[in-house]
Amino acid sequence: MYSQDAISGHRRERSEPSAEMLAGLACLMCGTDYRKAAGPTAVVVSHHAGAQLLACHGTCARMACGSVDGLDETPLPLEERVRGHRGDRH
Ligand SMILES: [Zn+2]
Repeated sequence: MYSQDAISGHRRERSEPSAEMLAGLACLMCGTDYRKAAGPTAVVVSHHAGAQLLACHGTCARMACGSVDGLDETPLPLEERVRGHRGDRH
């Protein structure tokens, strides 16, 4: 015998953002890690639980929110995003 709960619980969501994406440390679309890649400019495209979600300026931003420039909002400095990701706030 098996339960429906067990099946749905094991289903994997491919599109689920990683912890880095949710912390604004990686592109929501292509997964570029902004801590390692200095190249792409990150723009704010969405929010999750009060945190900014970022994507690369251009194609990624357009896929994420419909505008190549993202939302009209300034991303937090990388340092602060890293701090929030580690969870040692306050
Ligand atoms: Zn990207």
